[in-house]
Amino acid sequence: MSMDANPNTTSGTSPRLDSKVPAGDTADKWENHKFSMKLVNPNNKRKFDVIVVGTGLAGASAAASLGELGYRVKAFTFHDSPRRAHSIAAQGGINAAKNYPNDGDSVHRLFYDTIKGGDYRSREANVHRLAEVSVNIIDQATAQGVPFARDYGGLLDNRSFGGAQVSRTFYARGQTGQQLLIGAYSALMRQVAAGTVELHTRAELLDVVLKDDRACGIVTRDLLSGEVTPHSAHAVVLATGGYGNVYYLSTNAMMCNVTAAWRAHKKGAFFANPCYTQIHPTCIPVSDDFQSKLTLMSESLRNDGRIWVPNGMDDARAAAEIPEVDRDYYLERKYPAFGNLVPRDVASRNSKTVCDEGRGIGPLKNGVFLDFQDAIARDGLEAISAKYGNLFDMYHRITGENPYDQPMRIYPAIHYTMGGLWVDYHLMTTVPGLYSIGEANFSDHGANRLGASALMQGLADGYFVLPYTIGDDLAGLLGQTAVPTDDPVFTEAVRGVEDEQKRWLSINGTKSVDQFHKELGRIVWEHIGMERDKAGLEKALADIPTLREEFHSDVRVLGSAATLNQSLEKAGRVADFFELAELMARDALEREESCGGHFRSEHQTDEGEAQRDDENFAHVAAWEWHGLGTAQTRHREELAFEDVALSQRSYK
Ligand SMILES: Cc1cc2nc3c(=O)[nH]c(=O)nc-3n(C[C@H](O)[C@H](O)[C@H](O)COP(=O)(O)OP(=O)(O)OC[C@H]3O[C@@H](n4cnc5c(N)ncnc54)[C@H](O)[C@@H]3O)c2cc1C
Repeated sequence: MSMDANPNTTSGTSPRLDSKVPAGDTADKWENHKFSMKLVNPNNKRKFDVIVVGTGLAGASAAASLGELGYRVKAFTFHDSPRRAHSIAAQGGINAAKNYPNDGDSVHRLFYDTIKGGDYRSREANVHRLAEVSVNIIDQATAQGVPFARDYGGLLDNRSFGGAQVSRTFYARGQTGQQLLIGAYSALMRQVAAGTVELHTRAELLDVVLKDDRACGIVTRDLLSGEVTPHSAHAVVLATGGYGNVYYLSTNAMMCNVTAAWRAHKKGAFFANPCYTQIHPTCIPVSDDFQSKLTLMSESLRNDGRIWVPNGMDDARAAAEIPEVDRDYYLERKYPAFGNLVPRDVASRNSKTVCDEGRGIGPLKNGVFLDFQDAIARDGLEAISAKYGNLFDMYHRITGENPYDQPMRIYPAIHYTMGGLWVDYHLMTTVPGLYSIGEANFSDHGANRLGASALMQGLADGYFVLPYTIGDDLAGLLGQTAVPTDDPVFTEAVRGVEDEQKRWLSINGTKSVDQFHKELGRIVWEHIGMERDKAGLEKALADIPTLREEFHSDVRVLGSAATLNQSLEKAGRVADFFELAELMARDALEREESCGGHFRSEHQTDEGEAQRDDENFAHVAAWEWHGLGTAQTRHREELAFEDVALSQRSYK
């Protein structure tokens, strides 16, 4: 059954979406608010249980900080170790407004770049706070021993990322996420040893439990034994990452999924801007139909690599044989001010355009060149290798082509999701007591995230925002014990999860979970990918429910629920992707404008850039679940721009 036409809400912010943004000047809001929030005194903190689900950068930093503060924390991950979180894949770096290179950066500039980069679709107050605490993150990580690259004088080094004209990206070669995660993991394990954090690995959240409309716990399944267990707490924090794998082929880790956020959505947490997804311009192109994973080549490579395609159609010559006069460095030509460092959405769309014109390169003509010959000639092979060596090696191993000798071939791929659970200024969802941080929330990045800003946001949320805001809520619960796990709300939730497992195992159909996931991914990529239009979105809204019904009646899940069973795990995750995909299409259809990564071909400027409609769409769209097959309600949070003037983005 498909969702009916949407009963769109009228204009103005929905009463259900109180952002709780404090009054006052944007630049002073956070500092003043920290003082006005309620505190929980040190002796009382140990009376509160807090569940943190996810131990990537956002979850590990939050759990460690809350443990250090004295709360009783229970941390959950479906991985065998927190160190396996997808955060470990982050390559290029993390932004912070330190202005070490003395090139004109400031908190205000980072704030401004982020609002503009997100195409004026994010909340000013949150973004300003993010820019403010960015500087603390670098100090914290450095104190933990994170080995950031240093310049010749010993100061931390910086490089540039897209959408910025300053160098503010701190990095640890091409392994920034890994090094930051080792820092956060060390902080977390210190708390585990101190007894303030109880770590549950191989435990997958399959339901969020509410009592009297407030989050009171979760239900998990042990991925090895299949045991389904309830866990209770005074507050629940979801730090469960993004939903890019709805596209099947993505740069995300294979286990990334939307289940935790989606199950919370079905319990009343509104899901915001699901159609805002980020296509990253520098990924290794798809090589055949059997591929199940895509690989990112970090954006940092655009500091030194030059992007080009041949001028002519179907030019089959090797790159080295194509003279300068026959090359089109199209980003440098069209955007002289930012050149190869335009934001991701702009770079991706331009790659698609030149490939659609028939100027794509490689065996499938589905790529563009990222060329380092000029940089190597200018700086020397050793300098380039010191900056990007591990990325070059990775590319060489995957493609068999040596990027020191010939240009890399790259093409856009899905990489990050700006949509997610709606949260207020305190990072609380529309369910009291339920928080969401990191990529799982609808984030501070509007319609397009700037490179190196996801690590910044995840760690800002975990180290410096949630530890303050959660106390304001918990202070009001002093004296209340957590709901016991033998309460009927938990027994019912456990039964629901067990019944779901039995249902998957009883279908006994003909097709694997992966087959369905792949077919779903094709629809999502084709119609809700880099470019969208009304007809395609309507087709997606017809095709997705049909395929979903087939999935529910014809999927084959073998084995039992009482053992390690990866296809059983995936069945639940893909079921959630189906429901999310439909909402993505609906959200994209309703948003009759182009902004950032949401490019509706009907809404573009004469030069082919995204054309916003600020009069009608300068708002967050947050969706309320009413049951499968029933239209979700689209709520609006109007965005106020007091410090940055709305204008057409230009990177020329
Ligand atoms: C290849 C790649 C490179 C990137 N490079 C950069 C970069 O250089 N700079 C930058 O700023 N950003 C980068 N990003 C983006 C960035 O890495 C992510 O946005 C960020 O790491 C997300 O962190 P997180 O803590 O929110 O989620 P994750 O790291 O995805 O962690 C999610 C956690 O939740 C757990 N989890 C999920 N669901 C459940 C469940 N149901 N039950 C129990 N546990 C669950 C997982 O086990 C995991 O511990 C990159 C992304 C990719 C794909």
